[in-house]
Amino acid sequence: MTLTSTAPVRPALLDAPLPLLIDGREVAGSGAVIDVMNPSTGEVLARATSATVEDVDAAVAAARTAFDDGRWSKLAPARRAALMQRWADLLEENIEEIALLESLNCGKPFPIARDFEIRQGIEILRYQSGWATKLNGETRDMSLPGTWHAYTRRQAIGVAGLIVPWNVPFTLAMSKLAPALAAGCTTVLKPAELTPLTAVRLGQLAVEAGIPAGVVNIIPGPGSVAGQRLAEHPDVDKISFTGSTAVGQHLLRTVSHDLKRISLELGGKSPVVIYPDADLSIAIPGAAQAIFANSGQVCAAGSRLYVHRDVADEVVAGIKKIAESMQLGAGTEPGTQMGPLVSSVQRDKVLDYLAQGVAAGGTIVTGGAAPEREGYFIQPTVMLIEDPQASVVKEEIFGPVLVAQTFGDEDSIEDVLALANDNEYGLNSLVFTRDISRALLLAEGLQAGNVRINTPAGMDPALPFGGYGMSGWGRENGREGVEAYTELKTVTIKLG
Ligand code: NAD
Repeated sequence: MTLTSTAPVRPALLDAPLPLLIDGREVAGSGAVIDVMNPSTGEVLARATSATVEDVDAAVAAARTAFDDGRWSKLAPARRAALMQRWADLLEENIEEIALLESLNCGKPFPIARDFEIRQGIEILRYQSGWATKLNGETRDMSLPGTWHAYTRRQAIGVAGLIVPWNVPFTLAMSKLAPALAAGCTTVLKPAELTPLTAVRLGQLAVEAGIPAGVVNIIPGPGSVAGQRLAEHPDVDKISFTGSTAVGQHLLRTVSHDLKRISLELGGKSPVVIYPDADLSIAIPGAAQAIFANSGQVCAAGSRLYVHRDVADEVVAGIKKIAESMQLGAGTEPGTQMGPLVSSVQRDKVLDYLAQGVAAGGTIVTGGAAPEREGYFIQPTVMLIEDPQASVVKEEIFGPVLVAQTFGDEDSIEDVLALANDNEYGLNSLVFTRDISRALLLAEGLQAGNVRINTPAGMDPALPFGGYGMSGWGRENGREGVEAYTELKTVTIKLG
């Protein structure tokens, strides 16, 4: 894929300090103006205001008023759905500009930003808009003596504070905004410090679509200030967080004082299991895509390979060949297949892990270094390593690094499950085999919220996504995603 001739002109957001969006208006905010970098070049891309505690308080006050006066929560569900659809239309009309902002800010290839990430975010919005008219409770039969009527109701939780990371900024923001709005909540979104651009743009378009003032507020700012205040704020009823497990745990402690509702989408270290009967023409590119997409900065990345000894050489050689053929480049450079990591900090973190892996006896099959060029690039890397306790096997690297181990005929399904499940995370898992019984036995035993069989793909707005164990609490997408923004009320009536 290449940049189309319709690639937009320079987006206006790059030329003035990025505003905050509070109560339907763009405001300058009271915090410092910080640089937003272009990770493909290491140069300053834009300038953004950092929300302060006072800015967060203003955004929460706007969201609180907008919720309490019913301008959104009491709007007819069909009208809410229509406004969300109108917003989706506007996002679609501006998709080239939004994709360019995302590509410049994250370094991801422009066609991938446009045709996968932004489009997927818009699809999530369209899908969730449908739930606005379909959320309901149910009647239940009771066993108490007498005659009763009992029913349940789904009611919007209230003000939702949404905190997202930098790896897939637009889609992750939409994975929270869309279900929150469908449920009738009002929102305050805090994007990551490194990637605030598309968040502000989508907020501008929400206002343009006619979503009432105060319903969508956007506050770029530091996690330790703006995010922390959002989590602590007594007028915020729910926090939905996507990010690292460490910050997720911290937020859990933060909200414990008022038992604010909280959803956590956290890290992963997902296994990829390849059996010798697999179609290797699918398994090899599938395993490569699972780790190299988005430069490995994907929570669901398949980062631990367990391959049967009979096909290990062929599989590793195949992934190596793909890695070495990948064109690294700036996100906006035609032909780029893999962009940089998001920051020099992230690049250095990955390099540090690679050094730890080698020190633990790992052998680098391909990659393993930062190429000599501007920007924060890391070569796509495959490492063979036997020590199951090595940090590169245990911990989330969040870069294009696959660690590979083998198993053999002596290993039962239970043994392979023990290898795959030997991790505190439990977000995703991939299995490649033609044996349906084996695939289903593995699917049953894998300790992960998602199991993908013979494919690295499988994200869909209709399908719940989330993790077991240290990968988090709750699910996004699907009916479960919108229900996470509701409280369940039970009403009982004694009829006689
Ligand atoms: P991070 O936890 O450092 O930051 C995530 C967000 O939290 C940012 O907006 C940040 O500003 C904010 N934050 C930081 N400290 C805060 C605090 N004290 N209070 C409130 N907010 C605070 O994560 P990151 O480095 O931006 O993202 C990478 C991580 O995100 C990885 O671990 C990855 O696996 C995870 N992730 C998970 C999913 C999923 O769906 N499970 C999806 C994408 C990324």
